[in-house]
Amino acid sequence: MSVAGLALHPFATPRDLPEALGLLAERAARQEKTVLLAGGTDWFVERHVAPPETEGTLPLVLDVSRLEGLRGISIQVDTLRIGAGVTYLELRKDARVAARCPLLAAMAGDVGALQIQARGTLAGNLASGSPAADGVCALAALDATLLLRSVRGPRRVPIAGFYSGYRKSVLGPDELIEAVEVALPPAGSPFVWRKVGTRQAQAISKVALAGVAVVENGRCTRLGLAMASVAPTVAFLPATRALGLSRALAEVADTEVRDAVLGDVAPIDDIRSTAAYRRHVAVALVTRFFEGLKEA
Ligand SMILES: Cc1cc2nc3c(=O)[nH]c(=O)nc-3n(C[C@H](O)[C@H](O)[C@H](O)COP(=O)(O)OP(=O)(O)OC[C@H]3O[C@@H](n4cnc5c(N)ncnc54)[C@H](O)[C@@H]3O)c2cc1C
Repeated sequence: MSVAGLALHPFATPRDLPEALGLLAERAARQEKTVLLAGGTDWFVERHVAPPETEGTLPLVLDVSRLEGLRGISIQVDTLRIGAGVTYLELRKDARVAARCPLLAAMAGDVGALQIQARGTLAGNLASGSPAADGVCALAALDATLLLRSVRGPRRVPIAGFYSGYRKSVLGPDELIEAVEVALPPAGSPFVWRKVGTRQAQAISKVALAGVAVVENGRCTRLGLAMASVAPTVAFLPATRALGLSRALAEVADTEVRDAVLGDVAPIDDIRSTAAYRRHVAVALVTRFFEGLKEA
């Protein structure tokens, strides 16, 4: 769809969050569709493959890109709060994020090219819910909490409970994502962000791994792992996490890591890669991360 195509849609620019939430609620009550326009980098692209819309079924495009209520990055003690409308560029340029949550900074620097980083937001990444979504993958490894809001009030949803299936979530038709919260690991904690694709950064991943750990006396006291492009949603690798937390890392054999990872992923063949290659890369990436943790 071109920008001219966008002009066919009813369009609203709310002044603030309450006005946006009011509009969302009114339309949801009438079962009318609304699209929140943040960076537009997913929604515009999806127009090319979306079922044709007739004039009567066009959704209202609600421009949330300038809402102050969705902006800002802050740290309170050990909790990082990121407004859902924060872009990748803002994330990667923030010195506090680089120092306290380098996983997020590394992820943000690997999304698309500069143009996409300047427009694309975490909210759009989370709401689109692609199994290849880099932001979702990093936030899943960090066990982030999503702060949802509607006129009914706020709602906190752990990211592990947000997705209900392929590109499906528990977000209600009258709700939006207001912010995400991350319990920060201690500064200097080991982390991994590896995106395996055809070209550095520009390509959607064949497989991506996000991980963060806190290691004390040779044992993980915190371990978050997530992988993109290996299942219908971003995968949380529960068996691999449980293995890493179960005992001293030196006692965890590579074959156990391999079996746990293979049990946690369910990749498919598609235009970007094959299931077999994805399984191979998934095992290699996690094994390497565990090796690093053993030396930590
Ligand atoms: C060339 C190109 C390269 C890309 N590369 C990558 C990549 O490397 N990695 C990656 O993960 N993605 C990539 N993407 C996908 C896209 O850029 C990201 O998913 C981005 O984060 C989407 O954010 P947005 O603000 O542009 O979302 P939009 O397109 O504005 O919105 C997407 C969806 O999110 C909903 N939404 C927006 N804001 C909210 C909110 N506050 N609450 C609830 N729902 C909301 C909208 O209603 C819409 O359904 C790429 C896209 C392009 C075009």
